[in-house]
Amino acid sequence: MPAQLGRIPVMKPWLGEEEAAAAAEAVASGWVAQGPRVAEFERAFAARVGAAHGIAVSSCTAALHLGLVALGIGPGDEVVVPSLSFIATANVVRYVGARPVFAEVEAATGNLTAETAEAVRTARTRAVILVHQGGVPADAEALRAYCARHGLLLLEDAACAAGSTLRGRPVGAGAALAAWSFHPRKLLTTGEGGMLTTDDPACAERLRRLREHGMDVSAAQRHLSRTPVLERYTELGFNYRMTDIQAAVGLVQLAKLDAMVARRRELAAGYRERLRALPGLVAIDDPPYGESNFQSYWVLPEEGRPGGRDRLLAALAEAGISARRGIMAAHLEPAYAGHPSVPLPVTERITRDSLILPLFHTMTGEEQDRVVEVLRREAGR
Ligand SMILES: *Cc1c(COP(=O)(O)O)cnc(C)c1O
Repeated sequence: MPAQLGRIPVMKPWLGEEEAAAAAEAVASGWVAQGPRVAEFERAFAARVGAAHGIAVSSCTAALHLGLVALGIGPGDEVVVPSLSFIATANVVRYVGARPVFAEVEAATGNLTAETAEAVRTARTRAVILVHQGGVPADAEALRAYCARHGLLLLEDAACAAGSTLRGRPVGAGAALAAWSFHPRKLLTTGEGGMLTTDDPACAERLRRLREHGMDVSAAQRHLSRTPVLERYTELGFNYRMTDIQAAVGLVQLAKLDAMVARRRELAAGYRERLRALPGLVAIDDPPYGESNFQSYWVLPEEGRPGGRDRLLAALAEAGISARRGIMAAHLEPAYAGHPSVPLPVTERITRDSLILPLFHTMTGEEQDRVVEVLRREAGR
């Protein structure tokens, strides 16, 4: 790597003084566990994604787990999930004792469709987890109609999709239940953190209890009460709470979401422009029915292209550029050895051949030039 050029990371959270000040203020207030800032973050986030209620939790994995508990999924049930996703999407099905059934994705978006879900539906299928992969919106409206037709429950894994849109509305609007992540690999971050959103007030209330040990009165409510409150534990719950320190950071981050999405879409357009001169690399783009926040920007070398993905990754690393293999496929991991699956050729091709290019808020055009120059050099070999 030439000495004068800095390393280019694949992703870098856009955090500054304001987040630091908000966290310090929460600490100074003495209220650091789930409290008023979490409640405010829940209201603001739900409003931004077009949902009536938000329930903040400790991660998106926790959100997905609670979602399945709230939907009543358990032993004997099958849940259709894409294998092409971060492994948590499949794992949470096993947390509740049910069976994940892997479905294929469409090549253009990396997402499930009603057709690919239908191909693996059985009499035991109770639910579908739809992923908006890498921020690319899945056609949730088509999936919602499909699930309604077959009496299936739908949980949307929107971990990556804050700020993405579907037919002009935010992803999350109209979702029965959606789960979000605030891990630093996503657009908005609170260090670790997650959220569930829903329009159903009864479901929201149950989720609030489930994340707090199944208590019928939250610790914050009990603390604020002037009379003694005797809480009851109504069912088996969990400690999946978010802290007020995280929520304080989340509120600052949320106010930056529009700017983050705008900048990421600008950078994605910058890649599109530069990659045009490089035939043989297919770049991820918006589907016809929505807009991606480009949480991940991946390219897929044409089939049969010599060298392929791993050579490109090595050349980028050599140049001080951090890229990543494409989205993982859970069914290929040792944690799922022996787990039966239909053939998933599209999933396997995307996970084997695609690579994720660097894209972060403060990335410059010169840095994009450096990335594309390496790809061009390798393409010419
Ligand atoms: C990141 C991610 C998760 C897990 O999110 P955490 O907040 O890290 O638990 C789940 N599903 C998808 C699709 C993700 O990208």
